[in-house]
Amino acid sequence: MGGLTPDRLSRYRELRRELGREGLINLNPIQRGGILTPEARRALLEFGDGYSVCDWCPPKTPRLDRIERPPVADFLEDLAEFLNLKVARVVTRCREGKFIAFSSLASPGDCVVVDSLAHYSTYLAAELARLRVREVPHSGPPEFRISPQAYQETLERVRRETGKPPALVLLTHVDSFYGNLTEAEEVGKLCREWGVPFLLNAAYTAGVMPVDGRRLGADVLVSSGHKSWAASAPTGILALGEGVAERVLRRSEVRGDWSGRSFPEKETALLGCTVMGAPLATLMASFPHVVERVGRWEEEVRKVRYLVGELERIEGTRQLGERPKRHTLVQVESEGFYRVSQKHRRRGFFLYEELRERGIVGIQPGLTRHFKLNTYGLSWEEVKLVAESFLEIARKYGLGIT
Ligand SMILES: *Cc1c(COP(=O)(O)O)cnc(C)c1O
Repeated sequence: MGGLTPDRLSRYRELRRELGREGLINLNPIQRGGILTPEARRALLEFGDGYSVCDWCPPKTPRLDRIERPPVADFLEDLAEFLNLKVARVVTRCREGKFIAFSSLASPGDCVVVDSLAHYSTYLAAELARLRVREVPHSGPPEFRISPQAYQETLERVRRETGKPPALVLLTHVDSFYGNLTEAEEVGKLCREWGVPFLLNAAYTAGVMPVDGRRLGADVLVSSGHKSWAASAPTGILALGEGVAERVLRRSEVRGDWSGRSFPEKETALLGCTVMGAPLATLMASFPHVVERVGRWEEEVRKVRYLVGELERIEGTRQLGERPKRHTLVQVESEGFYRVSQKHRRRGFFLYEELRERGIVGIQPGLTRHFKLNTYGLSWEEVKLVAESFLEIARKYGLGIT
């Protein structure tokens, strides 16, 4: 309760990041796709001041997506082309994209269908938009799949319950629990048959692997710049197809009742403008790299399959989710490491600590029985070091290796 003394405030003067440093391998699933390119790191400094992208905002039609210096307007067109949809906007986060879509394509009380492996922010976005959530069940262990058939059944269940189709259907392209790649194209077709807008959550896919919004039948595609586009937080991508673009990007109709002021150029759901500085600059600066890197996805999948093969040599250890892997995020189940943890003085923390000593971080401290990792963007050398480290730790504690 000492007040904001200089001593207390000095803590903020020289912030240091502990786990993101060069020389450490960070396996945390949310970190791999968000590592900045050198170009983005330079842009971050260059555009670090406040509203840094707004210097040349066109005075007659002031809006973020119309700025030409830096080339925001061109970037948004290129972004839409990259995702093969009609228009794109940058928003603050993937979750904001979902909220914008929910609140503009559905009305309070409507049902929205989501997969039961959706990110928690999907549920909260629906809640804030005052929608009712109906979940598509997933299959049991060890695969936990979400099938188009289960979507069909959930749509029918909603129609029986409410007398009409849901207002919107959401599918998590790759989920954050098992890294399963879903049959988006099939769900897209189903939505077209039912005449329901289809929102594809590409937080873990667009920006790291090829994603064609039109081919997958997405009316709305959302993604996360800080998760998958080598950009700083907060950045999100909201891309829209022909059929919904106008509804989602509806212009303002409000009028001040005393002044008569109005803002017909502004897009209401975006509250006018969204990301007006450094994070947008990083997203743009990394874009050439992102366009190129999605072409190397197959190699990324080879690396994760290799690591899974090595980890499964360890007694009592297996990969959960679909086999073979089609994404670099993996959930590992290890009865072996769990057994070690029960007798270890550091309990579950031993695994984190052993890995840390070998320069590897990002496995959640304390977890051994189930933990997640992501190999995206690691070199073969690094993947081999990770594999070797796990095997070494297993040997050290007497676990069998096949
Ligand atoms: C990480 C994640 C999000 C959150 O992205 P933000 O940009 O931080 O909002 C949303 N959905 C899924 C599936 C995710 O994995």
